[in-house]
Amino acid sequence: MNTSLQDLGVSNGDVLLEISYLVAAVLFVIGLKLMSHPESARKGNFWAAGGMGLAMITTLLLHRGDDGSLIALNNGIVIVVAIIFGSILGTIIARRIKMTAMPQLVSFFNATGGAASALVALMEYSNPNNTSALVTLLGLVIGAIAFSGSMIAYGKLDGKIGDIFAGWVKYFNMVIMVITIALIYYMLAYDLDASTQSALAYALLAIALIYGIMFVMPIGGADMPVVISLLNSLTGIAAAMAGFIYHNQAMILGGIFVGSAGSILTILMTKAMNRSLLNVIIGSFGGGGAAVDKEHGNIKEITLSDASVLLSYSQTVVIVPGYGLAVAQAQYACNDLVKLLEDKGVDVKFAIHPVAGRMPGHMNVLLAEADVPYTKLVEMDTINPSLPNTDVTIVIGANDVVNPAALDDPSSPIYGMPIINAHESKNIIVMKRGMGKGYAGIENFLFFNDKTRMLFGNAKDSIQALVNEIKQL
Ligand code: NDP
Repeated sequence: MNTSLQDLGVSNGDVLLEISYLVAAVLFVIGLKLMSHPESARKGNFWAAGGMGLAMITTLLLHRGDDGSLIALNNGIVIVVAIIFGSILGTIIARRIKMTAMPQLVSFFNATGGAASALVALMEYSNPNNTSALVTLLGLVIGAIAFSGSMIAYGKLDGKIGDIFAGWVKYFNMVIMVITIALIYYMLAYDLDASTQSALAYALLAIALIYGIMFVMPIGGADMPVVISLLNSLTGIAAAMAGFIYHNQAMILGGIFVGSAGSILTILMTKAMNRSLLNVIIGSFGGGGAAVDKEHGNIKEITLSDASVLLSYSQTVVIVPGYGLAVAQAQYACNDLVKLLEDKGVDVKFAIHPVAGRMPGHMNVLLAEADVPYTKLVEMDTINPSLPNTDVTIVIGANDVVNPAALDDPSSPIYGMPIINAHESKNIIVMKRGMGKGYAGIENFLFFNDKTRMLFGNAKDSIQALVNEIKQL
């Protein structure tokens, strides 16, 4: 006898829903693949967004609640209002945001993802049909940590929140971690009445929120990129757990993609910064400002005309872009400078440090925006050996990523972080507004190097003035 899917209680709609989730997952994978290269990244975003759109529409139209009725029938108005409200708000924020505030926006979106997963877990914990108590509690804790941690990261990136470096913080965090694990065990192992369960779920939420705050608070300086990427992977894991609660394949897969991409990025970042993850989390590294007590030497400035002559008669020029390039929005002017020098027969390349700027890939995105050919961007490890033979290295709005203290000053908080060895090139021109410090808040002796000359001013103005000067040569 043949048993049909209908006999098993599976409707055509259920089958269609599962197939649409499979298609959505394939679209996510294609999107991710395309995002791995700056030239195709924009397309990748569209493919992945298409996958998410498909999963949302089919869930709305075909997903059935616990009572077997379509969710759109019961909650249609609430869902549609939420989608319209969220879409309008998201579009306004994304359109208004400045490129330099992009990392803050990413942190904020990350926080909302964590909050959504934590809320799903909080609501579903008391649902009698929910059979995955452990996953629900883990989703609650991880989502809450991702939320509060990302909000603190947002505040730090925005300069609204400083660092707490008190030594007691790591012990406090360890105690909170032990309490969290004990509470989860207690909630799972004992048969508690509904009101106690609910009270403990809220207590767990509060503890996890505090942990997220205290976990990110002491992490400062150059370690923020690792933390941001770690929080990103936590949000993905929390979303995957929410997917388990609902037995929703699209949510599980989407969460796993974000979680694994975030974890891979975290590992790459820790490697790029020569740090162990444990050290980042409990090391209270960076920030502070190690104004090392050394003879600074003198700062030497360079005039526009000297800089234009030096650059025009060089054979090789390497540009090291940093956060200040993004602040000044100098990427277009920078591309003009590159073209002009190339017309004069100069070989120009960009040296890209993995944590330059304020988000992973910040410099790649910025320069791609100005149509700088991707082949001109050279990774730190590849470009470093060629720097001793480079005639001029121009450091534009970069600071920490070219700070030699990372190589030769064991007392420096960035000691051990690989840098772009600008100090090894024959001449160095540094473009920045003044003697402001970088994100790690420490002095940079490259600026006092005998071979270094400073071109002070807003990066965009300085580059434009330099371009005009070179044109007149
Ligand atoms: P830094 O933050 O070290 O330095 C930027 C420099 O740009 C400042 O010293 C500032 O000097 C200068 N500047 C600012 N505005 C302008 C402007 N308009 N024109 C010219 N110069 C300007 O940048 P880096 O890119 O070298 O290093 C990135 C740092 O950020 C690292 O410590 C990294 O760990 C951290 N970080 C990176 C993240 C990532 O994912 N990439 C995330 C979070 C943190 P002045 O004021 O004198 O002009």
